[in-house]
Amino acid sequence: MRVSVVGSGYVGLVTGMGFVKLGNEVIFVDIDYKKIHAINNAQPPIYEEGLEELMKKFKGKYHATDDYREAILNSEVTFIAVGTPSREDGSIDLTYVKQASREIGKALKEKKDYHVIVVKSTVLPGTTEEVVKPLLEEYSGKKAFKDFGLAMNPEFLREGVALKDFLNPDRIVIGVQDEKTKKVLEELYRPINAPKLITNIKTAEMIKYASNAFLAAKISFANEIGNICKKLGIDSWKVFEGVGLDHRISPHFFRTGIGWGGSCFPKDTRALIKKAEELGEDPMILKAVVEVNERQPLKLIELLKKHVPELRGKTIGVLGLAFKPDTDDVRETRAYIVIKALLEEGASVIAYDPKAMENFRKFYPDVGGRVEYASSGEEVLERTEVLLIVTEWKEFEELDYSGKIVIDGRRIKAAEKNAKIYEGVCW
Ligand code: NAD
Repeated sequence: MRVSVVGSGYVGLVTGMGFVKLGNEVIFVDIDYKKIHAINNAQPPIYEEGLEELMKKFKGKYHATDDYREAILNSEVTFIAVGTPSREDGSIDLTYVKQASREIGKALKEKKDYHVIVVKSTVLPGTTEEVVKPLLEEYSGKKAFKDFGLAMNPEFLREGVALKDFLNPDRIVIGVQDEKTKKVLEELYRPINAPKLITNIKTAEMIKYASNAFLAAKISFANEIGNICKKLGIDSWKVFEGVGLDHRISPHFFRTGIGWGGSCFPKDTRALIKKAEELGEDPMILKAVVEVNERQPLKLIELLKKHVPELRGKTIGVLGLAFKPDTDDVRETRAYIVIKALLEEGASVIAYDPKAMENFRKFYPDVGGRVEYASSGEEVLERTEVLLIVTEWKEFEELDYSGKIVIDGRRIKAAEKNAKIYEGVCW
């Protein structure tokens, strides 16, 4: 099938290249010329394992453009995968989704054949039918579900293993109204062997929010228990290993540490809270989930001060800046909160991350410019006695922590074994 994908970020690019791998041809649309240029040179503008190889292998089967008309007229189905960030007050910012809908609508006006538009961006229940659909109809002069198809197909991939997740998902959720659209999506996803759940559009939108909120809650819950365990001298990882053996609970995604960050959980839980409040609900659990998570990274500073009471004038090493390993994404990374607190206490920071240093510097100008960046984990260890572990990159297992004070937010076994003084945040 010929597919177009609007927005070539973590989700758009991975989805598009996944479809290419499954034998489709893909046109990416973006407004960022650097990204367009990179994609057209088979260079991924983001870091994701396997992406570069895939882009090299299938060069010629995809290209990127800023021209919506070209993309819509030369494809049968268009995915909207633009960002849906938070506004200042936590509510969802639909600026990019609206822009994309208007541009797709204009191009759709000229299209003779049936075209299917699929919202893949994470949007609150009601958005596809109440925001996207009216804009598509207004700008195309056509009717949804009659002249063109419309669906909502949330994405569940995890950054760091995004391609693998896209091609081997736990499930595919397809929110549709009309039969023709359902057929197109079933055909497109046929090669993927996973349960396919067909729902109405609003339900598909809600499944994504409920999933993210639940996962965020699972971690905040573990951390709350973990903090109690720490005070009692109990290893919370063992506790959750034991808890997870209950088949109703599942051991996956059930580890304690310094909490969740990234481009999804924080903004999606906030958006759901805001939506609930608009509806006159008081989402007490969701609010607590967020609050626990905001405090959790500061546990690292609390534990650090147990061993180094005065931070002023000290150099503290920070290992890891990405919000999780195997990605260069620093959105809502716990590293920001930790480093900001260190700088406020008058400490100097030397940090290292295998992929995310450039992004960290750019993304957090208030803090990023005051950090010294090392060229390796070894260099951080050479330059300081005191280390905080913020992201669990595999290579941090290879470092020699002997003689060091290590406060660990993620559990690096080599540090636990060899450091002079070692504190795990919840163990
Ligand atoms: P991103 O910021 O990495 O990418 C968004 C892309 O859209 C950027 O390249 C941007 O230039 C482009 N864009 C913005 N406005 C545009 C427009 N009008 N026309 C064309 N392109 C435009 O975002 P992302 O992380 O890929 O997330 C995209 C959506 O997917 C969000 O709704 C997010 O919540 C959801 N999601 C993300 C993940 C994840 O792990 N990142 C997982 C599941 C779902």
